[in-house]
Amino acid sequence: MVRIDVGYRIDVRENGGDKLMPEKRQCVFCEGKSLSKEHIFAQWLLKELEIYDKNVSMTHASVIGVPISNRNHAFSKLINGLVCEKCNNGWMSQLEGDCKKHIINLGVSIK
Ligand SMILES: [Zn+2]
Repeated sequence: MVRIDVGYRIDVRENGGDKLMPEKRQCVFCEGKSLSKEHIFAQWLLKELEIYDKNVSMTHASVIGVPISNRNHAFSKLINGLVCEKCNNGWMSQLEGDCKKHIINLGVSIK
């Protein structure tokens, strides 16, 4: 099992009293508002590494690093919702496509 610590950023609303609200959501690269569901790990890479259906244990932590909960998810289900459709389907897809054969070759040389 692989363990990854994931810290979600949660900001307290200035006028919201005791409610915790996520910060305003926008693309981390271009600040676009039309967000997509980008897979954190490319599906082809998970299959290449034979970990597509393997679980990863993640710690959900507060902004100061205090663990809130632990969750298990399949690698293939991990999604980042902070990248816009334009970036995800544009330059990020192009970059992944350009690097794919090199990454696969690296994996083959390691095995
Ligand atoms: Zn973007």
